[in-house]
Amino acid sequence: MRILVVEDETVIARALIEGLSAEGYAVDHADSGDTALWMATENSYDAIVLDLMLPRMNGFLVCRNLRERGIATPILVLTAKDGEFDQVEILDTGADDYLAKPFSFVVLLARLRALLRRGPSGTPATLEVDGLVLDPARHRCSRDGTDVELSPREFGLLRYLMHNAGRAVPKRELIEHVWGDDEVDENVLQVYVGYLRRKIDEPFGRSTIDTVRGIGYRLSRSGS
Ligand code: CA
Repeated sequence: MRILVVEDETVIARALIEGLSAEGYAVDHADSGDTALWMATENSYDAIVLDLMLPRMNGFLVCRNLRERGIATPILVLTAKDGEFDQVEILDTGADDYLAKPFSFVVLLARLRALLRRGPSGTPATLEVDGLVLDPARHRCSRDGTDVELSPREFGLLRYLMHNAGRAVPKRELIEHVWGDDEVDENVLQVYVGYLRRKIDEPFGRSTIDTVRGIGYRLSRSGS
């Protein structure tokens, strides 16, 4: 899952980037409204955390512009304090939810997960494919009822593949969504796919992650 954090206050931005990265999200950062608009138009994000008071273009305008361009990425707005802005107005600009500062990071994570669940595919809270179960809220993974320990990066990779189960996901798309960095080498992705196979497939006599030659990887719905 790839998240765009739009926040001009360095301390809050850093806390959000570090916190979300630790949860296994790929995080990009914009510190002004016009940069945010450009980034959200050029890249594909799974959610946007958007501060309202921003240099050059405020959050309201960013939100409205994105919706006018047909970009339906879920948006969680951060407001400076409760009551400063009309909450109805925030939602009317096309935001999906809002949170007043100072906010609890745990609450922000919960709101973000709710938005991601509501995403275009209407994916349920817990992902389940062929005995493989991923619970993003508890950061837990199991196969055939046995718990599997995953690092945040492995978790992020598996989550994206499970969200797209049955589809051959291009390598570059996986790298963009899981690492959030176009510069990451495809060999790194290959190494992580290997880690995942050794954890979720080999011990269970399965082969869930297919290599699709010339494209990338596909999580098969009936790996046997
Ligand atoms: Ca601000």
